[in-house]
Amino acid sequence: MTILINPATGEPVDEVPDSTPEDVSAAVRAGRDAFEQWKDTTPADRARLLLRLADLVEADAEELTRLEVEETGKPAAVFRDGELPFAIDNLRFFAGAARSLDGTGAGVLSSGYTSALIRRPIGVIGSIAPWNFPFIMGVWKVGPALAAGNAVVIKPAPATPRSTLRLAALLAEAGAPEGLLQVVTGGADVGQALVTHPGVDMVGVTGSTATGRAVMRGAVEGLKRVHLELGGKAPALVFEDASIEDMAFGVTMGATYNTGQDCTAATRVYIARSRYDEAVEALHAAMEQVRPGDPWSEETDIGPLISAAHRDRVHGFVTRASGRVVLGGKPIEAPGFFYPPTLIADAEQGSEIVQGEVFGPVLVALPFDDEDEAIRLANDTPYGLASSIWSTDVARALRVAHQLDVGVTWINDHLPIASEAPHGGVKGSGFGKDMSQEAVQEYSVVRHLMIKHAAPEARDSFRPA
Ligand code: NAD
Repeated sequence: MTILINPATGEPVDEVPDSTPEDVSAAVRAGRDAFEQWKDTTPADRARLLLRLADLVEADAEELTRLEVEETGKPAAVFRDGELPFAIDNLRFFAGAARSLDGTGAGVLSSGYTSALIRRPIGVIGSIAPWNFPFIMGVWKVGPALAAGNAVVIKPAPATPRSTLRLAALLAEAGAPEGLLQVVTGGADVGQALVTHPGVDMVGVTGSTATGRAVMRGAVEGLKRVHLELGGKAPALVFEDASIEDMAFGVTMGATYNTGQDCTAATRVYIARSRYDEAVEALHAAMEQVRPGDPWSEETDIGPLISAAHRDRVHGFVTRASGRVVLGGKPIEAPGFFYPPTLIADAEQGSEIVQGEVFGPVLVALPFDDEDEAIRLANDTPYGLASSIWSTDVARALRVAHQLDVGVTWINDHLPIASEAPHGGVKGSGFGKDMSQEAVQEYSVVRHLMIKHAAPEARDSFRPA
């Protein structure tokens, strides 16, 4: 049994049973049965189910907001007015994507033969999700997999399972075949039981880089397809021609949204030396305006960190950090696990605070001397997920963007995403794309059908045509 704790109060809110290995097996079996029915549905059938689900999610906004806010402590308004409508848009996008013929085609590729490239679903997908955006992560895993014709067994993070359980209930209400989406609950052991289960054909995880490795190892024996969305350490590059005011607002938002518990969060700001002091001052002023507090208050910008252990971990990074703490740096004394926006200037590139994923509202600032150095420093971490460039010189921004080893680069902003655009990284941030048509394709396999249409002729050779 896992007791769920409200991170904004430190008080228990609910308890959820942990799945046993037998539960995982039963879920996979049910998934296999459902797959047999679902795999040959038409794109229109799949789209209809996802559209119905989107409508039910929309009608359930109040309850989903309660669950998400109780478990994560994030501001209710941020979820209800931002993340939830976005998740609904994701589902509607996946409904449309199910009907797109991207990646399929037909033609005469060899004389006398018609070739058809078709996409088929993979089977039962074992998905594992993190706690930072519990509902959205569930949608990003389930939406494209179902759109492509698969069944899913998903394991949410132990601290935040209820919105995923709710998603499965809403999908059943939308008319899904029984077992199409199964939820198993618990921690790493339940995750490994799912990853290694022989009835699971593909595994996906959004989580830390260490977890990505463990999932990949677990998938080796069965040679399963793997989809990994892992950690990040996004740089923001501020050139001398940038609007410092816009940058300070955008990078602060990027660094503190969801209390910095975001794999694409702005975590390292590299600033042209000629504007360094001014930019650090502007960031200080902007970060000071961010209001941690009660998630149900309209005045609150950010909630607590997910747990006392995670707050201690974040604070450990800060106490060991190189550089000088300009703002924040101490846990907030209040019930709940609050940590203030924290700015550290003059950190050293090779130090832990610049290289490691803190996953809290902590931003480090460093100067650079020229474009080449900015690119080198930005690329110099194990991660490669997100990045931003702040400049009014379009040619420079594009030139630099092409040199960054990352999945996304924003120019003069940091964080916005769209259902149509792929989300995912390179290097230690993993591989595999969430959202967009790319995600639907990742949950399918392309096949070649080759049909002879040539008139019958003498068979004079055993060599292929
Ligand atoms: P985590 O890696 O601790 O856990 C993620 C999930 O994996 C949980 O459900 C957990 O129970 C499960 N898990 C842990 N160890 C496992 C194992 N050995 N085998 C199978 N399953 C296992 O991550 P978290 O603390 O929940 O989330 C934060 C991390 O997620 C950060 O590193 C963050 O960057 C990353 N993240 C990445 C993205 C992205 O899209 N790239 C998005 C959100 C979060």
